[in-house]
Amino acid sequence: EASAKIIDGKAVAKQIRDEITAEVSRMKDAIGVVPGLAVILVGDRKDSATYVRNKKKACDSVGINSFEVHLPEDSSEHEVLKFISGFNDDPSIHGILVQLPLPSHMNEQNVLNAVSLEKDVDGFHPLNIGRLAMRGREPLFVPCTPKGCIELLHRYDIDIKGKKAVVIGRSNIVGMPAALLLQREDATISIVHSRTKNPEKITKQADIIISAVGQPNMVRGSWIKPGAVIIDVGINPVEDAKSPRGYRLVGDVCYEEACQVASAITPVPGGVGPMTIAMLLSNTVSSAKRAHNFQ
Ligand code: NDP
Repeated sequence: EASAKIIDGKAVAKQIRDEITAEVSRMKDAIGVVPGLAVILVGDRKDSATYVRNKKKACDSVGINSFEVHLPEDSSEHEVLKFISGFNDDPSIHGILVQLPLPSHMNEQNVLNAVSLEKDVDGFHPLNIGRLAMRGREPLFVPCTPKGCIELLHRYDIDIKGKKAVVIGRSNIVGMPAALLLQREDATISIVHSRTKNPEKITKQADIIISAVGQPNMVRGSWIKPGAVIIDVGINPVEDAKSPRGYRLVGDVCYEEACQVASAITPVPGGVGPMTIAMLLSNTVSSAKRAHNFQ
């Protein structure tokens, strides 16, 4: 029978949103400043539009001002850069988020580089990533999804220091920064990617696995050391005739099998997903505090 404890990201995210609500109102009362987040969406991808809508709703729910710019698919990179530059100069904006992916005719690097370091609440600016990688340096912001993974481990009192951690996936937005963060927390890390031979041999040694691949049910029960902690970042639609939409979302980890072996696991949905947005709100408030030297 299943034994793993369920790491309830939805509940933790709610608790964090409540903490942020209190911080936002404390700041407003003390110095009259309301944190502001600007979101730039280009094109008509449905998933991106959903993410942006959810981010706006989340801002509303904690009292953060949000500003959305929605540009048509055929906009020029120059237009996007103009908006970024305007937000960089606007003191009522403390965070700027460019919803990825951008249309293919735009250079993602140019666009991300244009976001002011002080407003890079996604943490994707190369200087923030570089600082994350360097000992003795502090990034101004840490990318939201990996930060949410670590926050879940902290809030469930799961030790990271001295543990063997395996990150599956090495993307700039999840896998790589997750590995850097775990290392900063004194874990010993291995990174598994698409060219790794016998990944299960490596994952089987891990005390902590963070999986960010995008392959449904790739991580089987047999890949997991008994008692390991599993953080499943993957969000993968799989066909499901019984669901009204015709599909449902699953993680990278075969949940039923993992529950028999792991000591704790995040569900999909309701694990890392809600934490990502909570961390975005948290980064935005930190940014506003820093801008106004408010503690
Ligand atoms: P990417 O596609 O950018 O990266 C996937 C990574 O997985 C790559 O490093 C790739 O390796 C690796 N990979 C692919 N196939 C395999 C395999 N068979 N074995 C081992 N490694 C493999 O994805 P993202 O990092 O952007 O996202 C990963 C997942 O997380 C997706 O399901 C996405 O939907 C989800 N996600 C969830 C978020 C949340 O809030 N919960 C936020 C962001 C993403 P290589 O580098 O060699 O190509």
